[in-house]
Amino acid sequence: MAGADGDYSEPAAQTRSKVEAQAVIARQGRFTHRCFPRELAFYVSIPSATDPTLAPSGCSAMFVLVPAPLVSDMPGADWATVTASIRAQVLERMASHGSPIDPRQIVCEEVYTPVDWQRRFGLYDGSAFGAAHTIRQLGPLRAPNYSREVPGLFYVGASTTPDTGMPMVVLSGRLVAERIVSQLGSPLGELVAEPALA
Ligand SMILES: Cc1cc2nc3c(=O)[nH]c(=O)nc-3n(C[C@H](O)[C@H](O)[C@H](O)COP(=O)(O)OP(=O)(O)OC[C@H]3O[C@@H](n4cnc5c(N)ncnc54)[C@H](O)[C@@H]3O)c2cc1C
Repeated sequence: MAGADGDYSEPAAQTRSKVEAQAVIARQGRFTHRCFPRELAFYVSIPSATDPTLAPSGCSAMFVLVPAPLVSDMPGADWATVTASIRAQVLERMASHGSPIDPRQIVCEEVYTPVDWQRRFGLYDGSAFGAAHTIRQLGPLRAPNYSREVPGLFYVGASTTPDTGMPMVVLSGRLVAERIVSQLGSPLGELVAEPALA
């Protein structure tokens, strides 16, 4: 996440989506395990382009998401060095796509690496999006929201059914609440019956 002294909404808005000023920048680079691909695929969002209250006048708020390997895929990695290299690649690619950002205009910046996701949020192996989206972990094949070994133990969130992402995780909460109520019975039943997600 970065705050830049400059209005970057215009070049961003000329990219993939004018409405949200978001861009997915991907060349042929495929994300392979255990390292960053040579050709980075990343996502850029300039939320201040559509909500000016997110940055002071004449400035921009920017969010860049770079898919990264798991912590265990890069044991002993010097994440400060890795981050500096990735940052340089992001700026270079943005410039090559016609959205140059002068690094001197970046007035504040916050970077989360897989190690941060692991330490700060307890995310397993630093995986920001939970269990991998392999064919055997998608949709109905994703881990169930209950334990087969321990009766009465339930799971909720991105790594369980139905999937990752805010809408799915909210749904996951509802599904597990319904399961608990149907299995155990509880005064929660009245709450679950409310059309909270309508
Ligand atoms: C950078 C990024 C961008 C994203 N963008 C989008 C997006 O645009 N749209 C979208 O739909 N989804 C997005 N997602 C995915 C979405 O944020 C997640 O799928 C969702 O937040 C997962 O919810 P969760 O409840 O499973 O886990 P989390 O949101 O990680 O919540 C788990 C909580 O448990 C806490 N916790 C962990 N361990 C313990 C413990 N031992 N004791 C007590 N508390 C603990 C953590 O601190 C955390 O607050 C994004 C994720 C990331 C990382």
